[in-house]
Amino acid sequence: MSKAATQLARTKSPVPPGWRKEVESVLITDAQLARRVRSLAREIERDYRGREMVVVSLLNGTVLFLADLIRHLSLPLRLDFIGVSSYGAGTESGELVFTKELRLDVRGRDVLLVDDILDTGKTLSRVIPKLRALKPQRLKVCVLLDKPSRRVEEVAADYVGFKIPDVFVVGYGLDFAERYRNLPFVGVLHPHVYKQVNQSVAKPVRRR
Ligand code: 5GP
Ligand code: MG
Repeated sequence: MSKAATQLARTKSPVPPGWRKEVESVLITDAQLARRVRSLAREIERDYRGREMVVVSLLNGTVLFLADLIRHLSLPLRLDFIGVSSYGAGTESGELVFTKELRLDVRGRDVLLVDDILDTGKTLSRVIPKLRALKPQRLKVCVLLDKPSRRVEEVAADYVGFKIPDVFVVGYGLDFAERYRNLPFVGVLHPHVYKQVNQSVAKPVRRR
C-alpha cells in the first residue's frame, strides 16, 4: 500500500466560473494533482528500477493521469490499454463489458496496471484475474483515487494517489456520461446533474 495515499484537506480553491453550474467544489487542485503524481512516479521508479515494465492502462478515465504519470517515469516501458465500459448512464456501476483487449504479451513481464478510481472494486476484481492469467512475473496496481468506504469486492491498490470520501467526482480524466474529462482539477459534481440523468436514462444502454 502506498505510504502517502494523501489525505485531503478541503481546498479553498474556487470552481472556475465556467463550471460553477455543474461542479459544486474543487476536491483536488491541479497543483495538488501534479505534486502527487510526481511523487507516485518516484515510488514506482524505486520499485521497478532496472527492469522494463509494461504499463497497462484502463480506458478511458486514465488518460490525463496516465499521460502525467508516465512522463515522470524515467524507466524503459511499453504501454498498452484495456478497454472496459460499465453500461448504465448514471453514477452506479452497471454490467462490465470489455471494449478493447490487451495486445502486448505480458508473460514474464513486470506489469503496472493503472486505473482512475477504485470504488466498489468490481472493475479491478474482473481485470486483475484476467491479467494474472497471462502470467506476468509481477503485477502491481496503481490508482489515482480510492474510495475505500464503497468497496464491495476485496481489492487493494499498491499505489494510491488520494483517498477520497464517498462523493461522485469528475475531471482529470473522470467523466459523467462522457463529459467533464477535460477539467484540469478533480471536482465534485452537483447532485442535480446526475439526479436528472439517473432518473431519466438509468436503464442500461447496450451497444451491439
Ligand atoms: P468500481 O468498479 O471500482 O466500482 O469502479 C470503477 C469505475 O467506476 C471507475 O473506473 C470509474 O469509471 C467509475 N467511478 C467510480 N467512482 C467514480 C466517481 O466518483 N466518478 C467518476 N467519474 N467515475 C467513478
Ligand atoms: Mg468511467
